[in-house]
Amino acid sequence: MAILVVGSVAYDTVETPREKRERQLGGSASFFAVAARGKVPVRCVGVVGEDFREEDLQLLRDHGADTSGIVREPGASFHWSGRYHADMIERDTLATELGVFADFQPGIPAAWRGSEYLFLANIHPDLQLHVLEQMTGPRLIALDTMNLWIETTPEALRRVLARVDILLVNDGEARQLTGKRSLAHAARDIAAMGPRRVIIKKGEHGALYFGADSVLAVPALILDDVVDPTGAGDSFAGGFMAAVAAAGAGRDDGDAVFRAAMLEGTVTASFCPEGFSVEGLLHASDDTYRKRLDALRAMMIP
Ligand code: AMP
Repeated sequence: MAILVVGSVAYDTVETPREKRERQLGGSASFFAVAARGKVPVRCVGVVGEDFREEDLQLLRDHGADTSGIVREPGASFHWSGRYHADMIERDTLATELGVFADFQPGIPAAWRGSEYLFLANIHPDLQLHVLEQMTGPRLIALDTMNLWIETTPEALRRVLARVDILLVNDGEARQLTGKRSLAHAARDIAAMGPRRVIIKKGEHGALYFGADSVLAVPALILDDVVDPTGAGDSFAGGFMAAVAAAGAGRDDGDAVFRAAMLEGTVTASFCPEGFSVEGLLHASDDTYRKRLDALRAMMIP
């Protein structure tokens, strides 16, 4: 039960009120792959430049990712730079340097086209569609997007949305995509666009699941310290999809597996902000993971 992920493999420069880290490992596919914790094979498709450190690709491999779909092209790797406000939630994007990402045309290796699970991380919707068209019928397709594509390429986004099973977005993006203030209305409108299941992430307030036949609200774990929240959304997706794939769930299954996977996504995402880059995820032992899952369940029981 392998997951194919297509997304950015990047260097991030992150500034928080306490510290600045330059060119650390980032990108949606990187966070997603590490977050899956080796539960199922994760096949990464992406592009890096000449500057990308071999040790960073090795780190992804050491954590269960197959990086043979990450091509190296002449030029610079995708570089994102952001600065967090004092609340460690709001952030300003200071730079998005596409580098080799600008001409990225994701080619799926022939042996990977039959992957059972597909996660289309946040990239241009035309590229997401291009990936989808190379696949031979995944059991389940999930997609992430962002305000940039909702604003600049709404028709392309609609085209790809019509063909996916799950959309993961944050609350602001759900409202922007639908023009609805109520998240329940927004989720209904999104479901009418294609994805039968909609996950709306609300940062430190948790996440909502609007399923085929049920709704679930999962609180976020309460963290002592937030070091760098970059990648928490992709980490949620990695934890969620790994749980769904490990259970072998498909688009026509009931909500039970997806509801359980919401807890796994939430616990996985909780480790991400505790360190820079993927460090928080790497420090999560199986024992701590289990304890957090228990703590989360306890938070949800009266
Ligand atoms: P998140 O904090 O979950 O929104 O994810 C942040 C990650 O997304 C960072 O590691 C960035 O490198 C990556 N990222 C930011 N902007 C883009 C973009 N336009 N396309 C692809 N990846 C991006």
